Amino acid sequence: MAVNATRSPKKNGGFSMYDYLSAGYNNLTHKPIYEQFGFFIGILGPGCNCCTNKSFTDAECDSRPFRRCDERDCGTIRRPSLKFREVFNSAFTLLRSLLGEEDESCTPKLLIEDEFENLEVELSLAVDALYDYFEKKGDHEKALKKVLVDNKHSSKAEITTVVAEHLFGPLAQGRYKIDSRTTLKDNLQECACGCRSKVKYGSTGIGHEKVWHGFADILLQSPDNSLNAAVVIAHKVELLNDHTNGLSDQDNTPPSKKLKIKGESLLLLLLLLLLHKEKSPNEENIHVAGEISSHSGYENQAVSQTFVCSMIQRRKRPYLRHYLVPNIVISDDEFYIIMYDPDKDNLLCSPKYPIFGDSDSALAVPVIFIFWMVLHHRLFCAGVPERDFLNEVKSNFKLRAADAWPIYNEQLKENVSSFPLTSSTGLECDITTYYKEVSFDVQ
Ligand SMILES: [Zn+2]
Repeated sequence: MAVNATRSPKKNGGFSMYDYLSAGYNNLTHKPIYEQFGFFIGILGPGCNCCTNKSFTDAECDSRPFRRCDERDCGTIRRPSLKFREVFNSAFTLLRSLLGEEDESCTPKLLIEDEFENLEVELSLAVDALYDYFEKKGDHEKALKKVLVDNKHSSKAEITTVVAEHLFGPLAQGRYKIDSRTTLKDNLQECACGCRSKVKYGSTGIGHEKVWHGFADILLQSPDNSLNAAVVIAHKVELLNDHTNGLSDQDNTPPSKKLKIKGESLLLLLLLLLLHKEKSPNEENIHVAGEISSHSGYENQAVSQTFVCSMIQRRKRPYLRHYLVPNIVISDDEFYIIMYDPDKDNLLCSPKYPIFGDSDSALAVPVIFIFWMVLHHRLFCAGVPERDFLNEVKSNFKLRAADAWPIYNEQLKENVSSFPLTSSTGLECDITTYYKEVSFDVQ
């Protein structure tokens, strides 16, 4: 392993880099709340409108998590079907190596080599980004706390700049762009924490005006500037205004429906407020993202955006090992991750987890590792692992898209600055197939 594992153990608040690596690895592999972090498998229902010309903010996915039975209970989801560690296996191999715990079962060849001309350079850059982040962890925490925690009235644009500059950007070696239309509304040229960093804007439009399309709040890019990951900012207050603030991706919603949406959103807000009272993740308060997706603008936005990202990736970059494009949904206190594999038609959706630890708004160390692994998925993830039950539990995206499938398969666009208004395409979704009820024993 040629990765620089011996970088000077600079102390940061009494912690050395080894302490952080050790805490991250041990929490993710042994502490029950993080060891259980993983993905539920999502299924699209007959209410999915993927064959219509809807923007992400108007998408309906009708998604629900596949329910897996165990001997105690059938019908109640207790644990994710796929552990995070199974999907990002290579990152755990690397961490063990950095901790000097390499053994025969943990060989570097498990790391993904065929996508990168120079794997060692890419790995070194990724590890450097992680080390740099921990060296400045205190500064990043202060910035995030100021905008996400202390200011209860931070705008969506302010939250977007601070998570881009102090969370995702640094972990992804600075390769991000924020939806440039944000400046139309807030004109924020610098990070909202006051650090004076200039934020980077660009065209984040993806999709096609005849089907699902819209603008990612933040796009993360790969070393070759291609699509790597996307972020949805789940702003609880602006959720109410998303359909009327003039930034809607394509606003064809009749006024009567807007009122209805607003009413539903108020109910959602109450629900969110109740859910958010519980902070620490344990089995009782892990919320399954798909469970409330049909009621929530940003959850539907994220699921539809995830499908579009992966379909673009498969068409434009067929040489990649897999076409997962992680979509991270983040609010001022929680996050979750959605990914879609278009070859296997598996939709993966994590539970919601707190960003901050229990005390003094410190970023939870395992969460930093999760983001780092996800943002470097091309190094650390070989795709959705082979599991028998995944062959049975498909998302049904192609089935739901029906006549619109060729558009998803062949015509999706990226780097779009604006989508033309279109009238109804007349394409019809499949609404005749209901959720396939499948149950398997927990292995
Ligand atoms: Zn800042």
